[in-house]
Amino acid sequence: MTIHKIEYSGRYTDLSHDQLVQKLKETLTTSRFEHVLRVEQTAVDLAQQYGANIEKASIAGLVHDYAKQRPDDDFIAVIKQYRLPSELLNYGNAIWHGVVGWIFVKNELGIDDLDILHAVQYHTVGHQYMNQLAQIIYMADYIEPGRDFPGVTEAREITHQSLAEGVAYQTQQTLKYLVENRKPVYPQTIVTYNAWVPKRN
Ligand code: GDP
Ligand code: FE
Ligand code: FE
Repeated sequence: MTIHKIEYSGRYTDLSHDQLVQKLKETLTTSRFEHVLRVEQTAVDLAQQYGANIEKASIAGLVHDYAKQRPDDDFIAVIKQYRLPSELLNYGNAIWHGVVGWIFVKNELGIDDLDILHAVQYHTVGHQYMNQLAQIIYMADYIEPGRDFPGVTEAREITHQSLAEGVAYQTQQTLKYLVENRKPVYPQTIVTYNAWVPKRN
């Protein structure tokens, strides 16, 4: 992995790259912070390969897990305040930190760019419509160099061949894992599966 040093333009955040990194360092545990840095670098690699906006890839990579360490009560308050689907209350941080976490990114980091906010919102459960940036963050989170699970090498190879095939691979693996372990499947995960995985003819 090449280490990218990125200068921000001021279009998407008032913070400099180093200020945003510092903010995340203060907000996250050490291991989560290090994961976030690896996701950023992987997202920038993918953005370069696929011709996406490198600055947005960097920002979205850095902030994708911004809400990971928040207490459940913060999420429950926001779910009620914004009248989000009450179905969400049956889940926990694993689902909330992305599906709801983007609201904290917007309100507390002042990031308003919809591509970045959608990439954060969709990074765990995906979405039927994911643009290039959302696909990049979804995949960078899955294949960053600190990940070690059966199939990760294949996931990396596929993602560098085709972003959409990478999305299909991860979505299939995640659903398989949830079903095999009798874990609850968030409905959006199934919607994402149907949009990206089946071969249709
Ligand atoms: P991380 O935040 O970097 O650890 O990675 P993610 O945000 O991608 O995923 C967080 C966790 O959510 C992972 O352990 C996934 O397996 C889990 N997850 C993804 N989709 C679902 C779902 O539909 N239901 C449940 N229960 N967990 C899910
Ligand atoms: Fe996450
Ligand atoms: Fe992550």
